[in-house]
Amino acid sequence: MSKIIAIANQKGGVAKTTTTLNLGVALTLKGKRVCLIDFDPQANLSAYLGYDDSIGTPNINEMMSAIARCGENAKEGERCIVHNEKNNIDYVPSDINLSSAEFYLAQSIARESVLKRVLSAPYFAEYDYIFIDCLPSLGILNMNALTAADDVIIPVQPQRFAMDGLGWLTDIIGQIKNTVNPKLDITGVLLTMVDNTTVSRTTETALREKYGDKVFDSKISRSVDAANSAATGKSLCLETNAKHTKLGEEYKRFAAEFLSRCE
Ligand code: ADP
Ligand code: MG
Repeated sequence: MSKIIAIANQKGGVAKTTTTLNLGVALTLKGKRVCLIDFDPQANLSAYLGYDDSIGTPNINEMMSAIARCGENAKEGERCIVHNEKNNIDYVPSDINLSSAEFYLAQSIARESVLKRVLSAPYFAEYDYIFIDCLPSLGILNMNALTAADDVIIPVQPQRFAMDGLGWLTDIIGQIKNTVNPKLDITGVLLTMVDNTTVSRTTETALREKYGDKVFDSKISRSVDAANSAATGKSLCLETNAKHTKLGEEYKRFAAEFLSRCE
């Protein structure tokens, strides 16, 4: 049985995509079988992994719309998984057409569980962990992510307004847990792009006071290595010119802490 984890925060630019890829790769290096789902119409994860849509694999929007329109059988025989050689990781690509999902989902029955039905295809059960790289919103697509997930990781940049945003998100997670997905839990809050500014330090202290153990001990520093990794399409956890990056080491430490919480 795979464990499905949504990497979510309605705020953009907090390192959801960077965390999805680097946590995923760090876990494959530990021998775990991992699949990443690009669940953002902006398709940053697919771009990070150099996705070439001419290969014709169905993307997440095509899988979702087939199920939303035709019911359970639409997915039979369709495999939507792409393997990325450079990072040795499997993923399901996305594209801009996922932004039309709001429209077809509005008319479909059980509209918050469409992604859950996509992920119930037998070939997804081969993975230990499936990570959903969420889009920055609190709309119906993220309801689908939170309905499909067993757990949520919330990347938070310790900046002004981070506390408010986290409060709204935890409220929504609570509502989903009380209605359609009782098994949903928050694995933890991951501090990202941490730096030496006063606001970063005071927000970190406030988050740790309010959320206690829910905040991971590991945290990710701000570094230009993140942008370099996105540009080369190679995870921070893989050596570049026989060199380890600081962020790569931080993501590996985070992966170890994540596993200790899950297993
Ligand atoms: P999200 O998916 O939440 O929108 P991304 O992972 O795409 O966020 O990150 C947003 C931007 O910040 C990207 O340009 C990324 O390269 C950069 N970034 C991510 N993590 C870090 C970090 N630790 N330090 C500096 N920049 C980072
Ligand atoms: Mg993203």
